[in-house]
Amino acid sequence: MGKWCRVRCNCPNRKLVNIRQPWGAYECGHDSGDEAGLWPGYLFDVGRLLAKLTTDDQLWRGGFDVFVRISDTVNYVDEYLALSPTERDLWRLEIEELLAIEAGKQFFPYSLQHPWDQYWAEFFKDPRRQRDAVSIRPILLAGISICEASVRTGNPVEFYL
Ligand SMILES: [Zn+2]
Repeated sequence: MGKWCRVRCNCPNRKLVNIRQPWGAYECGHDSGDEAGLWPGYLFDVGRLLAKLTTDDQLWRGGFDVFVRISDTVNYVDEYLALSPTERDLWRLEIEELLAIEAGKQFFPYSLQHPWDQYWAEFFKDPRRQRDAVSIRPILLAGISICEASVRTGNPVEFYL
């Protein structure tokens, strides 16, 4: 299966078409019975970079608590982690802050901004990534859509390694 991030749907007919295929089709038509789902690898890259850049800066580290947590495997139990509604709302604020920084409306201190920009400039040069990621903005927006699905359904944001 690999890494996955999902919010389950609430459809009354959320039933597997074939119970022997737990990741197969659902009667309601949602893939894997998910209201929203995505491969979270790039979001984990964001979290790991934030963890690295803020190692010596507890103030900024605290501002990205959820990002750092979801990106570190030590926080998973049986390769699984779910966000509480409070954590989900915090994560959304963290994503919005990064979007504001990307839009030039907010700024990291220079000591963070410079390595942040450098990392992503290199990151998106990789031809393999250019197929599904060209900038940090769509990666962050995908995170927002997951948070919105969680608010809409009342179901948690779930991560699988
Ligand atoms: Zn459904």
